[in-house]
Amino acid sequence: MESGLPFFSFIAMAQDCKNNSEIKGLPYNREPCAQLWCNPALETQAVGAESSIISMEDVGAAASRLVRFAPLLTKLFPELQASGGLIESGLVPLKGAYPALAESASHGRYWVKTDNDLPVAGSIKARGGIYEVLAFAETLAERHGLLAGAADYGVLAGAAARACFGRHEISVGSTGNLGLSIGIMASAMGFRVTVHMSAEARQWKKDKLRAHGVTVVEHEGDYARAVAAGRARSQADPQGYFVDDEHSMDLFLGYSVAGLRLRDQLAEAGVTVDAAHPLFVYLPCGVGGAPAGITAGVKLVFGEAAHCVFVEPAASACFMTRLQNPEREGISIYDAGMDNRTEADGLAVPVASELAYAQTRHLISGVVTVQDAVLFADLARVQASDGLKVEPSAAAGFSGPRALVGTAEGQAYLREHGLLAAMPQANHIIWCTGGAFVPAPEYEAFLERGRDYLAAWQRPS
Ligand SMILES: *Cc1c(COP(=O)(O)O)cnc(C)c1O
Repeated sequence: MESGLPFFSFIAMAQDCKNNSEIKGLPYNREPCAQLWCNPALETQAVGAESSIISMEDVGAAASRLVRFAPLLTKLFPELQASGGLIESGLVPLKGAYPALAESASHGRYWVKTDNDLPVAGSIKARGGIYEVLAFAETLAERHGLLAGAADYGVLAGAAARACFGRHEISVGSTGNLGLSIGIMASAMGFRVTVHMSAEARQWKKDKLRAHGVTVVEHEGDYARAVAAGRARSQADPQGYFVDDEHSMDLFLGYSVAGLRLRDQLAEAGVTVDAAHPLFVYLPCGVGGAPAGITAGVKLVFGEAAHCVFVEPAASACFMTRLQNPEREGISIYDAGMDNRTEADGLAVPVASELAYAQTRHLISGVVTVQDAVLFADLARVQASDGLKVEPSAAAGFSGPRALVGTAEGQAYLREHGLLAAMPQANHIIWCTGGAFVPAPEYEAFLERGRDYLAAWQRPS
């Protein structure tokens, strides 16, 4: 960007942010700004380097497994008939002006990846969680000869397979959505399922699981404690299988398939991704498995032309904390002075996944942190502009572009990476991660809260 002109307004906005953060104790006076922290460990040539353990072959093999299971999934879930048994979301252009950057035509095009609407599980957890259940089922099916002579995996809906699966218990620790994806999938196949829920988990998620025949165990503490309790109990059961959100390679691989799917969707939309057409992907981050898996897939597919940015609640920024402390494995947000008090239940996580960290610490461009109020405001804005139904966690991605183009840190990142001139040809993908299953009264309350913030911020102060 030699002229400097098109970006002037955002530099002015960065100034505003500075003033705003000084208004301590008055967070609702004006819209709080998202903050961007750039990752100094980002390596532009890291793709395929030692640090990333998975390869394109691994991602391709994961995608093939999902294809093998498609005939079974169409049997179990009639809503998958239209997609031939594949669980995938849309890539849709953002209809409304990008919130709070209405004047930003010069920053390229905005897209929404609608994982908020993913069939079967209603959230991004459909990618990793369902994949892991299928991987375990395939292992059992092969071990017990359930696939011998079968035309396709549809045979696994039969009585013999269900009897076999019913002898095994799958368990998982979850803030809610992972439990839903594992619970719905595994119970549909005939497994016994136990979900260990943390204190943040919403009542309706527990109710929905119980309605699917899942055993829900409620824990007093935070997410890390629910996982630890579930892991300990499952290890005591020889027929037990624990889906370990903090360490699971299968979850990670399931998420990574999104890279291949995105490649096809962008191609279909006629979108070019290369040095002159950079791709920015904004991913809400909890423990880090979902955004890291997707980042691994996206970077394998697009290499340096893709820039992946994680977005976390300011009170629960565990992945940023881990990236900022490379020497401190297992560091928690409490060590960094955060309190985990966020209503973004899917992101209320105190400690990052070490696997996700190790896989992607050189691939992540940066981390954006956001106040809860902005999550609610964005949830209401995208409902009004695009008719999208998202939960608070799932609205986090909308803060991504704002932080990238609207802060001094973001401008520095773009300048350092030689991206300023290419920005008019950029594509921004805001990953919406959950919401389809939120009950109407709960969703109405979210909306109302978001509209209240928006009204308050419009009031002259
Ligand atoms: C779980 C979840 C995420 C983040 O996934 P992690 O693997 O925990 O980082 C984001 N959004 C929603 C709605 C989720 O449920």
